[in-house]
Amino acid sequence: MLSRIPFDRVNWTTSSFLIGTLALTLTAVPLYLWRFGLDWFQLTLFVTSLFFTGLSITLGYHRLFSHLAFRAKWPVRLFVLLFGAGAFENSALMWASEHRRHHKHVDHDDDPYDISKGFFHAHIGWLLFKLLPQPPFDNVADLKKDRLVMWQHRHIQTLALLVSLGLPALLGALWNGWSGALGGLLLAGVAKVVLLQHCTFLINSACHTVGHQPYSARCSARDSSLMALFTFGEGYHNYHHEFQHDYRNGVKRWQFDPTKWTIWALSKLGLTDGLRRVPNATIEAAEQRQRRDTVMVAKQGGESDSESFSDKSTLTTQAFSAS
Ligand SMILES: [Zn+2]
Ligand SMILES: [Zn+2]
Repeated sequence: MLSRIPFDRVNWTTSSFLIGTLALTLTAVPLYLWRFGLDWFQLTLFVTSLFFTGLSITLGYHRLFSHLAFRAKWPVRLFVLLFGAGAFENSALMWASEHRRHHKHVDHDDDPYDISKGFFHAHIGWLLFKLLPQPPFDNVADLKKDRLVMWQHRHIQTLALLVSLGLPALLGALWNGWSGALGGLLLAGVAKVVLLQHCTFLINSACHTVGHQPYSARCSARDSSLMALFTFGEGYHNYHHEFQHDYRNGVKRWQFDPTKWTIWALSKLGLTDGLRRVPNATIEAAEQRQRRDTVMVAKQGGESDSESFSDKSTLTTQAFSAS
């Protein structure tokens, strides 16, 4: 087993971080809770921190910077760049470059989290091992003109440490001294990062494996209401791959998409505008086409089954007549 790991390609910094934070969450966090318990302050800090950071990734890194699905005023862009850094998922510039390549080459070699290489690779393997050759960084010329994006890119490590770990530790210290600081660091800091990262990774792994394909079967992306619960509404991934510039992922009224609701609410406050929507007629046409294709594939499957059945019966008859 160990001999099969390509040690020359291990990304040691990223691997140590991912494995180290997971180990702390599974050991130090339960120990802290057992020793000090969980008060309302630590719980509120954890939930708020998780929510701010998660939305910064889905609303900011994903729908705003990677897909330009709407425009946002500078306070929103600054907020998502600061809290997005706290997810320890690299800068918005790098994230968007990788994500745009995912959409362009989905299910093929140039897709950084190509699901055809397996669930583990798409979930976390692509981060543990360096991609060879190093992919070009040539699809984010528009973002390189954004001064806030470039500022975040230059200071990403410092911002991530300060916002994600320093801030909760400081707020915890102000609330309850050194034990409060330790709680803030472990719960709203480390545990939040681990939970959030695996929720993001689920979009690349589970959302290309589990669920339905109501809009298209051209790629492996799938819609899953269950995944939407863990991914701030990004679980409707089949729709998203078919209509990637729409600011909505859960396009139906009943679908759980808090990222869409937040973008819409911010537009009512004048903080976002230019929300891009695919016309209903185009969406319905895609659904009808996909239903028709599914019926045709099922029919062809049925016909080939009955063909092979009749082939078998002919063979059996011939065998009987020969005897
Ligand atoms: Zn995808
Ligand atoms: Zn996308």
